[in-house]
Amino acid sequence: MSIDIDFFLTTVEEAVAGKKVPVVDLIAVQTRDPYKVLTATILSARTKDETTSEAAHRLFRKAPSTEMLARLSQEELERLIYPVGFYRNKAKFLKALPAALEKYQGQVPDTMDELLSLPGVGRKTANLVLCVAFRKPAICVDTHVHRIMNIWGYVDTTTPEQTEKELRRKLPRRHWIPVNSLLVAFGQSICRPVGPRCDICPLDQLCPKKGVTPRRVFTATVDQGALQTFVSWNVNGIRAIEKKGFTDIVADLGVDILALQETKAQPDQLSEQLKNIEGYHAYWHSAEKKGYSGVAIYTRTEPVDVIEGIGSQTYDCEGRVLTLEYKDFYFINIYFPNSGSELKRLDFKLDFNRRLQIFVEELAQKKSVVICGDYNVAHKEIDLKNPKANVKNAGFTPEERAWMDAFLAAGFIDTFRLFNSEGGNYTWWSYRFNARAKNIGWRIDYFCVDSKSRHRVADAQILPEIVGSDHCPVLLRYHTKN
Ligand code: SF4
Repeated sequence: MSIDIDFFLTTVEEAVAGKKVPVVDLIAVQTRDPYKVLTATILSARTKDETTSEAAHRLFRKAPSTEMLARLSQEELERLIYPVGFYRNKAKFLKALPAALEKYQGQVPDTMDELLSLPGVGRKTANLVLCVAFRKPAICVDTHVHRIMNIWGYVDTTTPEQTEKELRRKLPRRHWIPVNSLLVAFGQSICRPVGPRCDICPLDQLCPKKGVTPRRVFTATVDQGALQTFVSWNVNGIRAIEKKGFTDIVADLGVDILALQETKAQPDQLSEQLKNIEGYHAYWHSAEKKGYSGVAIYTRTEPVDVIEGIGSQTYDCEGRVLTLEYKDFYFINIYFPNSGSELKRLDFKLDFNRRLQIFVEELAQKKSVVICGDYNVAHKEIDLKNPKANVKNAGFTPEERAWMDAFLAAGFIDTFRLFNSEGGNYTWWSYRFNARAKNIGWRIDYFCVDSKSRHRVADAQILPEIVGSDHCPVLLRYHTKN
């Protein structure tokens, strides 16, 4: 059944009236200056609107024109636009921009091909500049546009480029210019990427909701329990990911507990921004060796107790396990060892696994347990793209997989498999060979729970659209009594 796109977009327009306008539109309204619209658009990729707005205003104070931009050094540009995501790369693009514009007499050009010739400008940016700065008929397909048009079943595509092509074919022209800002505002406020708020959405009865799991709303009473959202993410260096917009991603996710692995930092090496994320208490268990391993948890609810490690100096000096105790469950965050090249650390890992299991089983005798993290093992053939080629490799050896079999048989559940039995769902991709784009990956990050608490699990997902690390986050919705 096809949706009535006019009705849907008019309804969205009414729903977002009075809500925040996306930052690039705001800058266009304030200035109508193509240079500023282009620059703000480059800054806005993978960055929260507030951060983009502040960085753009700092930049425009120093460089209100391309002539002034040309006088700034790479270092000054980096300083001015920090902490937008990928600020070093963006500073490089801005540094190269004045020279690239010389061919157009220092002016921002107004055709797609010319815009695409500029540094750091892809189709999305070019389309946004054409729509917003020049009011030319173009369709900018932000991630929200791509996602929501697929949820509505208006298109059936896998990439924003395909969505743009489809929309050019079927979306009436009158919607081309406004569709991006409407759906960005809608995607940020109601149809959010994680747990869309269908319960307050005016399209609830008509929307096909393709591929979405709406948030569930419960009255939080002690008997019924509250539904909380937990996310686990191997960030592969928290200081590195901070430069890619980590705190904005945390704000966007808005989860109750965020568990991180491979933080590779000690608390005194962290910025104030990382130590004090608004609305969260933060706990760290770092390795003694600097820049190695380490786990952390951000939690909205203060725990009743915090346990660092598993009571074994051999393993605890590597900062691998952090447990928060709440009123009615333990939350255990683990970074399992990697067996290493030539499996040099396989024995170390298997011994860690055995001790960890004893630690978890002892806690599970007292109350429910949620056990998340980077397990560093793909359990079954379905959990990695190329099982045959990897039987002797770290993370897929018979010994590691046998431990996972034994762990689950001992009374724990891999929650993702309660909801999804399909292959092709991965949480880690090598940085090499363009593996993520080709989805040549492994599922090695898990949320497990004790089997007696199965009824508390409402949903489990993988969030591959969230980037910044070679792993993506995994999610669990869980009933608590906190
Ligand atoms: S009903 Fe839910 S999925 Fe559909 S548009 Fe509204 S929030 Fe999004």
